Amino acid sequence: MPVWELEKPGDQAPFLRTQLERLGMEQIDFYLLHSLNARYWQNVLRSESLAWLDEEKRRGHIRFAGFSFHDDFDVFKTIIDAYDWDFCQIQYNYAQHDIQAGTRGLQYAHSKGIGVSIMEPLFGGFLTGPQMPPGASQLFEENSVNPVASALRWIWNQPEPAVVLSGMSEKYQVKENLRIVESADVGVLTQRERQVLEQVCSYMRENVPIPCSKCGYCLKSCPVGVKIPVVFDIFNKHLLVDRKHTLQPALYRGMLPSEKASACIQCGVCKKHCPQSIDIPAWLEKVAAELEGEKLT
Ligand code: SF4
Ligand code: SF4
Repeated sequence: MPVWELEKPGDQAPFLRTQLERLGMEQIDFYLLHSLNARYWQNVLRSESLAWLDEEKRRGHIRFAGFSFHDDFDVFKTIIDAYDWDFCQIQYNYAQHDIQAGTRGLQYAHSKGIGVSIMEPLFGGFLTGPQMPPGASQLFEENSVNPVASALRWIWNQPEPAVVLSGMSEKYQVKENLRIVESADVGVLTQRERQVLEQVCSYMRENVPIPCSKCGYCLKSCPVGVKIPVVFDIFNKHLLVDRKHTLQPALYRGMLPSEKASACIQCGVCKKHCPQSIDIPAWLEKVAAELEGEKLT
């Protein structure tokens, strides 16, 4: 349910009706109020969406009611305590265990009998493969630790998560994840894996300036069409290689003027949609100075 569209009781009906029609189903098993934060929580209350969830469960259109979440622990606790949720979905990975709901939120929800689904266990691909910062890849290589397996095993090592949504987009990733889960369980993460993940976590925190997960939620709101996640990705990678390579500036130069950071008119609309609470216009100013300064244009 896109809660940002809800203003009053009854606003939910056309969304659920369309969703059921498109799915060709009479019931949705797991139904989420999507992307809750402090602001959207007010929409939920104003539109009486909790009573609406009860009613749709009673009618049989929804089997289990939950919410996905992007804000801090205090907001998370307020939402958890406000309703008899069946499940919730949080962003959680070894590099961000203490932001948003975090480990505290995971354990709190679990202690109340609420199923917790984990999203972004590899942070939009940033914790693995070619997208991973070279310094972090090096730490994994030097210690012969697999970045995907250890990141997923770090989550499965804990008793609270009910399910991990690993964001697979290729068939080989499905196979890889199935192989990894066979050796994953609570308490099986090795000391070496734990140490390397801690080192990588420290490295990331010291070296990645903008914590953008590339979710793209900000994109539709921008009146001029700034390609925010692309711009942030280029900037992050440029700084992670200490500005030594020309690839990222070259990629940036290839973007349309309307897509670049300097096209931002500082309206601030995108900020409201960012689940990572990134001050997007402020960062765009820095990116423009860095990548569109005299040396690089
Ligand atoms: S602040 Fe800049 S990037 Fe954000 S919506 Fe406005 S113009 Fe687009
Ligand atoms: S800036 Fe925020 S909303 Fe936009 S892609 Fe990055 S994390 Fe998502």
